[in-house]
Amino acid sequence: MKTEQLKKDIVAYSREIGIDKIGFASADVFAGLKDRLKRQQELGYQSGFEKGSIEERTEPERLLPEAQSIISIALAYPSRIKDGPKSTKEERRGVFCRASWGVDYHEVLREKLGKLSAFIKEKVPEASMKVMVDTGELSDRAVAERAGIGFSGKNTAMITPEFGSYVYLGELITNLPFIPDTPLEDGCGSCTKCLDACPTGALVQGGQLNAQRCLAFLTQTKGFMPDEDRSKIGNFIYGFDTCQVVCPYNKKIDVHHHPEFEPEPDVAKPKLKPLLRISNREFKNTFGHIAGSWRGKKPLQRNALIALAHYKDETAVDDMIAVMNNDPRPVIRGTAAWSLGKIGTDEAFAAIEAATEKESDEQVMAEMEKGLAFNKFAEKSPSKSVI
Ligand code: SF4
Repeated sequence: MKTEQLKKDIVAYSREIGIDKIGFASADVFAGLKDRLKRQQELGYQSGFEKGSIEERTEPERLLPEAQSIISIALAYPSRIKDGPKSTKEERRGVFCRASWGVDYHEVLREKLGKLSAFIKEKVPEASMKVMVDTGELSDRAVAERAGIGFSGKNTAMITPEFGSYVYLGELITNLPFIPDTPLEDGCGSCTKCLDACPTGALVQGGQLNAQRCLAFLTQTKGFMPDEDRSKIGNFIYGFDTCQVVCPYNKKIDVHHHPEFEPEPDVAKPKLKPLLRISNREFKNTFGHIAGSWRGKKPLQRNALIALAHYKDETAVDDMIAVMNNDPRPVIRGTAAWSLGKIGTDEAFAAIEAATEKESDEQVMAEMEKGLAFNKFAEKSPSKSVI
């Protein structure tokens, strides 16, 4: 079968199975990306979550030796929760970033790409293919850019004209020589809204991200959150969306094409206090199916403590004292102590003082000292939720 006709058939089939955008690219080396990644590595700007060597990430032939083309797909996800639960004074809520609402997109995109592979295989039995979604070696964004799915914004997101940057990306490397689609032109122009809005300056310049300073990355780490970033995450317990929210291309974009990505309101915006005492089993049952659970419950609990501090939630003090006194994990005990100090009730300070008598971990002790130091500078006004 001619690849020209096959391409048309694949595009038609992709619509049938609910793929919002599809594009075709050559499997040539991503030379520009290779240089950028080397620079990022030298500068220490990588997150550490990247898979594979720079060569594997930029040379498709290393992943599929007979690679000729890459098919890129995009699925749009919602940006608003319909009738979402409100965070109340009695029951404060955290929030997962939009990319973690609904079922883990890795699974959904892999399933779509699996169907696409089966479709191609049926038409061309000798076709070879390799599927990748986010955690593979290739840069989904670089592939999508080359395949004309969208342009790469200064916020380092893939921006599509139809769905803004609220899209998940995945790709399929193949030995079939498809005619490539045309990349889109850059659409940022002189806009700098995302750079101006980034609270940590992680977007060092248009299109360049220092992942180590990115709040989306910092919410996923397992150690202590850097002091200067704690007040910036607000009620985000996983990921951070500001650089997408401010982007003009995302204005009024709220796509609900896929039932899998519909947010379950109580999961996407969970109550914070119950999160502090959630068991492993409950955590798996409640959050195991969403992308934001991939690092386990510890970072989410640490962030929940910081979010409660952000709200100055006095109703959480008893739960937080229990965590500070009993949790076996130093990061959680220490963050609880810091957050208690931030809330700043007499009970909270007394509990931190008492806990210093029994604590032996040096890092936790340091957090307790920071918590007690808020006694001098306590502000009592509660803060607002970010979403
Ligand atoms: Fe580009 Fe402006 Fe969107 Fe940033 S906010 S990605 S500069 S259009």
